[in-house]
Amino acid sequence: MNVEILEKNQYALKLYIRDLPLHVLNAIRRTVISEVPVMAIDYVIFIENSSVFYDEYIAHRLGLIPLDSENAYDKYKSPEECMEAGEKRIFSTDCFAKFDLEAEGLENGMLTIYSGDLVPSDPDIKPVFDKIPLAKLVKGQRIKLEAFARLGRGREHIKWSPVSVATHKYVPKIIVNDNCNGCGKCIDVCPRGLLKLSDGKVSVDKSRELSCNFCRLCEQVCELRAIKVSHKENEYILYFEFTGALSPRKTLVEASNILIKKLDEFEEKLKNLGVIQ
Ligand code: SF4
Ligand code: SF4
Repeated sequence: MNVEILEKNQYALKLYIRDLPLHVLNAIRRTVISEVPVMAIDYVIFIENSSVFYDEYIAHRLGLIPLDSENAYDKYKSPEECMEAGEKRIFSTDCFAKFDLEAEGLENGMLTIYSGDLVPSDPDIKPVFDKIPLAKLVKGQRIKLEAFARLGRGREHIKWSPVSVATHKYVPKIIVNDNCNGCGKCIDVCPRGLLKLSDGKVSVDKSRELSCNFCRLCEQVCELRAIKVSHKENEYILYFEFTGALSPRKTLVEASNILIKKLDEFEEKLKNLGVIQ
């Protein structure tokens, strides 16, 4: 397997992967989406809410705030251990990080409550972004609540996923044959502008080739069937957009560990059943 980084920052990772079967790539992608735990608010106790927003609406918005979970694995119990505790309303500190929120409308004008107004009990578990609007209050309106976050997995609810986007894309293979007469029709219709004329024939701008979206408009307008768009075998672009709850590195390492553990368990079960030795 060969991996090349095409883009990397705190919130995005784009990899060019060669010689990896699609089902393995997809297993990694799906594990990242639905198995890697992060913290998210799961229970909210409303002490006061005289805003125009229903309790459920505010609780839902609170749940979707990405929370910094980089140090959560060392401090909080697993999702499976804490799910049951939460259902019994036992908000123990080894499972739950607490947040307080208290706000009142202004004498003049409107007050916007932001994610950064949540007061965390654990400084390690706090909103990744401070400026996510939660609700607005006018004079005389108040909100006072306690919110409890725990580790969870995306398969339970997507608010516990460390990624907002996890996709793979095929790598384009664009071939122009000798029938090309350089009419330029394909260049005009290509929405990604990756075809160009050189020496009276169409060629692919290599710096933009990966942006091809496989629309095949170029093939449709070519009366001479001189251009053919397909994809390369066992080569893929894997793209993740992270919520910021976990670093890209920690997300992928954790996903790999979870996948290996699941495969070990599967192998063990097959051995116990006598399917394999
Ligand atoms: S439309 Fe066909 S013939 Fe015309 S430039 Fe493109 S590939 Fe060549
Ligand atoms: S398939 Fe679409 S994006 Fe790709 S080269 Fe053809 S026209 Fe351009």
